[in-house]
Amino acid sequence: MTNIATLNPELLAELQAAVGPDKIVLGGETLENLSKDFYWYSPVLKRLLDDKIAAAAVRVANLDQLRSVLSACSRAGVPVTARGAGTGNYGQCIPLHGGVVLDLMPFDRLLEITADGVVRAEPGARLATIEEEARKKGWEMRCMPSTWVKSSFGGFFCGGSGGIGSVTWGGIVSADTVKSVTLMSCEAEPKLVKLEEEAAKKSIHTYGTTGIMVEIEMRLAPRCDYEQILFGSPDWDHLLDWTDAAARSEYGTKRLVTMFEDPIPTYFKPLVRHFQPKEHITLLVVDQRAVPELLASAEQAGIRVAYRVPFKDPPKPPFLSDYTFNHTSLWAIKAEPGYTYIQSGFGDNFRQQFKLLQARFPDQIVFHLEWFSDRARLGPAGHYVGNRIVVGGIPLVRYVSDQRLQEIIDYCAEIGVRISNPHTYFMEDGGHHPDIAEKRALKAQLDPLGLLNPGKMRTYADNPFDPAPELSHAP
Ligand SMILES: Cc1cc2nc3c(=O)[nH]c(=O)nc-3n(C[C@H](O)[C@H](O)[C@H](O)COP(=O)(O)OP(=O)(O)OC[C@H]3O[C@@H](n4cnc5c(N)ncnc54)[C@H](O)[C@@H]3O)c2cc1C
Repeated sequence: MTNIATLNPELLAELQAAVGPDKIVLGGETLENLSKDFYWYSPVLKRLLDDKIAAAAVRVANLDQLRSVLSACSRAGVPVTARGAGTGNYGQCIPLHGGVVLDLMPFDRLLEITADGVVRAEPGARLATIEEEARKKGWEMRCMPSTWVKSSFGGFFCGGSGGIGSVTWGGIVSADTVKSVTLMSCEAEPKLVKLEEEAAKKSIHTYGTTGIMVEIEMRLAPRCDYEQILFGSPDWDHLLDWTDAAARSEYGTKRLVTMFEDPIPTYFKPLVRHFQPKEHITLLVVDQRAVPELLASAEQAGIRVAYRVPFKDPPKPPFLSDYTFNHTSLWAIKAEPGYTYIQSGFGDNFRQQFKLLQARFPDQIVFHLEWFSDRARLGPAGHYVGNRIVVGGIPLVRYVSDQRLQEIIDYCAEIGVRISNPHTYFMEDGGHHPDIAEKRALKAQLDPLGLLNPGKMRTYADNPFDPAPELSHAP
C-alpha cells in the first residue's frame, strides 16, 4: 500500500501559486486535525485510521483555485481527499494514502434562494447559514444532519444521509429533494459536469470518490414554526406505542420523532434536571399549531411533559436536535467511553425485533430510535406527510470485542434489521447503494486516474495506491 507522505517541490510550488502559500498546511496539529473526522466513535475504525495523515491540506476558496489544484495533483499522480467540516463518522474524509486533503470550507457562497424554494450554494456553505437564510425567506431545509450548525453543504451531500426533517421528507435522496449537483473531475484538464434530478442521485453519499461537488441545488420545504418537546414515561412499551402513533399521525409537520431508552437521558447533562429516575424519553419537534392536540393526547395516555421550548427564529439554542442522531451517541460515549453504536432500520415488526435483540444480547444494546419517512407525498391538509413511516435508530452497543460487534450485526441481519455498518470506511458497507454500478461508472468518468479518496469505494478495483486491497475489514 503506497502512502504519499510528502509532496514533491514542483507540486508544492504549483499549489502555492494556485491558492497562496498561507493556504497550505504542511504539518503540526492543524494538519492532524484536517486529516481526521469523528471516526473514533468506532473502536474498529480507531485502530485502522489513527495513524492516517495527509502530506498537506490545501484550502480552496473558489472554482479557479480548485481547478488548478486538481490539475496539479492529477499531473503529479497524488491522491486528493475532499473535506468539509470533518464531522463524518466513518473516516470518510481521512486520507488512506496521504497526499492532499482539500479543505473546501472557504468555498462557501450561498448563491441563491429562489422564490419557489430552491437553494443553490457552493460546497463549503454551512447548513446553519442556509437554514437561517431560508427561514428569512419563508423556507427551511427539508432535511439536515444533527451537525447542521457546523457541517457543510458539500459534506452533507457526499457523506450524510438525512436527519432532522427526515420523518417528513425522508433522506437526501428521497423524493425530488436534490435538484442538481455540479461536479469537477480530477484530471489534467478538469471538467465540470452538471447532473440533474434523478441523475444527480448517483453522486450522493459517495465520499468524494466521484468528483468534487462545486455547486448544489436543493429543494426546500415551506417554513414552519416549531415547538421542541420532551415527554417521559417509565413504561417503555407504552411510550413506544404513543410515540409511534404520534409519528404516524397527521398532526402537522414534524421535524424530529426520537426516543431514548433509559439510561440514555441521564447522559444529557444540560437536560437531566428535567427527567425523573428510570424514565424513557421521547423527543418531538413539531409544528406549534399541533401542540394542543399533542399535549391532550399525552395527558390522556398518562405521559408526562418533561420540558418544552420553542425553536427560535433566527435559529438560536437551545436546539433539542443536539441530542438526536449521532449526537446521542456522542453524549453517551462522553459519559461512558465503553459504548459504541450501530445504525439500524427496523421492520414493521420492530417491537418483536427489539425483544429478540434484548433477549439475545441482554444489557448490551440500549435503544435510541429515530422515525423516518421512506418517501414523501403531499397530504390532504397541504402538509407533506410520510406515506410510509419506518423506525430506524442508532442503538448504543456496549463494546466487548470486534467479534461480539460482528455477532450483533449478523444477528440483526438474521432477524431482518437492516444495518448500515458504521465500523467500516468502505462506502458500500456503510450505507445502501443499489446504484453502485452507476457510481462506479461516474467515478471512472470523473476520476480516470483513481486519485479521489482512493480506497473508500471497495468495489472499484482500480486503486493505484493499493493494487492488492483488503476486501473487508468488518469487525
Ligand atoms: C455528532 C454527530 C451527529 C451526526 N448526525 C448526523 C445526522 O443526523 N445525519 C447525517 O446524515 N449525518 C450525521 N452525522 C455525520 C456528518 O456530520 C454529516 O454527514 C455532515 O453533513 C457531514 O458534513 P461535513 O461538512 O462535516 O463533511 P465531511 O465530514 O468533511 O465530509 C464528508 C464526506 O464528504 C466528502 N466531501 C466533503 N465535501 C465534498 C465535496 N465538495 N465534494 C466531494 N466530496 C466531498 C468527504 O471526502 C467525506 O467523504 C453526524 C456526525 C456527528 C459527529
